[in-house]
Amino acid sequence: MSKNIVKNIFKHIKLVIKHKWLVFKFSCKLGIPFRGFMHDWSKFSFEEFWESVKYYDGGVSPITRCKVDNGYSKAWLHHKGRNKHHDWYWVDLNAPEVAPIIPYKYVVEMICDKLSASIIYNGKNWTRNSEYDYWQIEKTRIIMNPKIEKFLTEVFIQVRDNGIEKAITKQNIKELYKKYCIDDKTKYKYEFHGEWKKID
Ligand SMILES: [Zn+2]
Repeated sequence: MSKNIVKNIFKHIKLVIKHKWLVFKFSCKLGIPFRGFMHDWSKFSFEEFWESVKYYDGGVSPITRCKVDNGYSKAWLHHKGRNKHHDWYWVDLNAPEVAPIIPYKYVVEMICDKLSASIIYNGKNWTRNSEYDYWQIEKTRIIMNPKIEKFLTEVFIQVRDNGIEKAITKQNIKELYKKYCIDDKTKYKYEFHGEWKKID
C-alpha cells in the first residue's frame, strides 16, 4: 500500500467519524438518538469504504470525483440503496407514488445529516444561511414529495432566521412535520394497465 492510500484511509475515517458525531448530537437534540447512532455505518462497508479512500480529496466529495472518472459511483448506489435518510432511497420511477412521504424519523435524520454536512463542509465560512442557500439549488436537482420539500424549506428558513439552537428542537420539528406532511392515512390501491391508475 502506498503512503498516500494509508493517509487517505485515516483522513477518510476521521471525516466520517466527525460527521457521525455531529449527526449524533443533533439527533439526540431531536429525540432520535438511535437513528443518529445508526447513521451512515454503511460507509464502512467494502463497496463504500474503498471507493471513498481511492477518491479522497478533503474538499470535493469522493462520490463526485468517482462520477467524474467513471460516469457513476458504485459507492453512492450502495449507500442510497441502504440508507433511508436519503431522498433517493425512496424514489421509484416505476411506482404509482414515485416519491412517497418519507416517515418522520428518517426525515429528521435527513435534517441532522444535511446540517452536519453543511457545517463540516463550510468550516469557518459556515453561516446560518449556508444550508438554506445550498437547499435552494439542491431541491431543483432531486425528486421529492412536495410536502417533504416544503417542510424542509421551512426548517432551513427557520435555521437561517432563528439559528440552530431555536429551530432544531424536538417540539418545533414535530409541529412542522405535522403541519406540512400529515400523511393522509387513506390507503389507495392501484391498477396497472400500461400506466398506473388509482382505484377510488
Ligand atoms: Zn448518508
